[in-house]
Amino acid sequence: MGNVPATVKHCLSYEQLVQDFPWLAHWLQEEKHALTHEYPEYVKIVEVGPRDGLQNEKEMVPTGVKIRLIDMLSETGLPVIEATSFVSSKWVPQMADHTEVLQGIQKHSHVRYPVLTPNMHGFKDAVAAGATEVAVFGSASETFSLKNINCSIDESMLRFQEIICSAKQQQIPVRGYVSCALGCPYEGHLEPTKVAEVVKRLYELGCYEVSLGDTIGVGTPGSMAKMLHTVMKEVPHSALAVHCHDTHGQALANILTALQMGICVVDSSVAGLGGCPYAHGASGNVSTEDVLYMLHGIGVRTGVDLSKVILAGDFICEALNRKTNSKVAQARGECW
Ligand SMILES: [Zn+2]
Repeated sequence: MGNVPATVKHCLSYEQLVQDFPWLAHWLQEEKHALTHEYPEYVKIVEVGPRDGLQNEKEMVPTGVKIRLIDMLSETGLPVIEATSFVSSKWVPQMADHTEVLQGIQKHSHVRYPVLTPNMHGFKDAVAAGATEVAVFGSASETFSLKNINCSIDESMLRFQEIICSAKQQQIPVRGYVSCALGCPYEGHLEPTKVAEVVKRLYELGCYEVSLGDTIGVGTPGSMAKMLHTVMKEVPHSALAVHCHDTHGQALANILTALQMGICVVDSSVAGLGGCPYAHGASGNVSTEDVLYMLHGIGVRTGVDLSKVILAGDFICEALNRKTNSKVAQARGECW
């Protein structure tokens, strides 16, 4: 059935072809559907490099460098830049300068600067430092939750409930993260129903958006579609984001799959900052530059200037004395 001569395919219109060869109708319908998948007109990029990326750096990054990076990113048209984390400096020393960073950046009126707040203590400090949007970080995996945020999923939800209630009173929007959405470094495969359950809990607690994280970058378009299909039965697609890691080279394909399923919010990291802590030397966060190149290539608007993001990537890579993880930035660096 698949061997329709190319000349036939290209010379006749779809209607003519179906009229002349009725047995082809089903096969052609499938092909037509595959070619007319629609992408959203606009995708909101959430830049996570200054927090998710830099928190994985072993060497302390000077506060001034973090501030300069965020200031450069603010000039690119990015609508959201996750600035820092109000986590205890005992757990993440790299983020100990959160107050200085949040207060030192030049805040643009069209950019939002959420900060991560793992508990009430962090939330209060964040508000005192002037945070106007916060994020909470949960997990779909019980073991990951215990090892990463030192509490069970149920306990984490109680913490988040307290934060979200307090945030609501102060009209501070809260974003949610669900890690291990496509696999866990300890438990391996996770059932999509388990992911959906945690996403639903965060959404019902009051998170305006929940970002689905492929923390160890093991997902494929197949597992992404399966997981999203299940999650979208519980939470509207307009309240979901994807956070893909490129550990197995699948990030862009996974993002494209999510877009085809109606997701319009994508997390990414300038220069692909943030390696994979579970696979030494492997890629972590998908790079903002590569995501922008793909989105603009398929005609999706982002409002972000790719060349300015490349400049911000050059700046941070030079400061960290490292090569960019962005394929696009590498290609531009070599050719231009
Ligand atoms: Zn990440």
